[in-house]
Amino acid sequence: MRLKNRLAIVTGGSSGIGRAIALALSNEGAHVIVADIDESPRRGKYHEKSTTTPTVDEISKSGGQGTFMQCDMSDENSIRKLVDKTVKKHNRVDILVNNAGICFNRNSQETTTEDFDNLVDINLRGVFLATKYAVPHIKKSETGRIINIASVHAFHGGGGPAYAASKAGVVNLTKDTALELAPHGGTVNAICPGYIETAIQDELTEQDIKDSIEKTPLPRLGLPKDIGLAALFLASDDAEWITGISLIVDGGMLAPLPVV
Ligand code: NDP
Repeated sequence: MRLKNRLAIVTGGSSGIGRAIALALSNEGAHVIVADIDESPRRGKYHEKSTTTPTVDEISKSGGQGTFMQCDMSDENSIRKLVDKTVKKHNRVDILVNNAGICFNRNSQETTTEDFDNLVDINLRGVFLATKYAVPHIKKSETGRIINIASVHAFHGGGGPAYAASKAGVVNLTKDTALELAPHGGTVNAICPGYIETAIQDELTEQDIKDSIEKTPLPRLGLPKDIGLAALFLASDDAEWITGISLIVDGGMLAPLPVV
């Protein structure tokens, strides 16, 4: 058990990538706080069509320990309460996975100011706030870890001004927090997934999905567990000297030269 006696918070843990991360960490002994707006998993039109069981029930079935806590990552008070309640109950935070996020791909003319603010509030400001409130506790852990879920869209245009900017922000926030936590022995890393089979892909057309598979050297969509296992590695002692990186998990999608 690589994460025995560790307490992990996974935001957006009810569905998709967050759910796979929560399961991967709990399978290795971590007690996982599944933080989300709703305990029911999100069901998509392409993927996760028949996923209905709450993540904590899946964790229990596998013999692990998990607790659901309601939290809205766009609301500072809700995030502060999530960390306070966790520490009150468990007296520690060892691992924070900032995974909750939303996505839409509209250009600058189609994106309203409210759309932009709402996305950035969840995808970037929420990561900052969860970090801000969790860091004092993670500093006390001998194995402190923050893992931020960014995207391949952090590095290139094409994801729309709100999503692409929010994920680029997460990559640089990761490096900055890595410097803050390093003197306390903790690590902070990002994972940049390619196209993963979750309900967030409802935003895409079937043609978008076909194109993304064709552009992936390992020609399939990613599975949530591909990201879950990468997060498990970064959370484990095996990754104790890795900090400030953005680990691209995309089946090779970003590997080719953009123009050949
Ligand atoms: P899903 O939509 O499947 O899951 C996202 C989860 O986050 C849902 O449970 C959702 O809840 C929750 N959530 C959304 N808004 C909030 C909020 N304000 N407060 C708390 N929880 C919230 O998406 P993925 O699992 O695919 O996405 C997880 C992360 O991975 C995101 O940050 C996304 O940007 C990133 N990512 C995903 C990729 C992909 O192809 N799937 C590729 C690259 C990055 P609810 O159902 O109630 O909305």
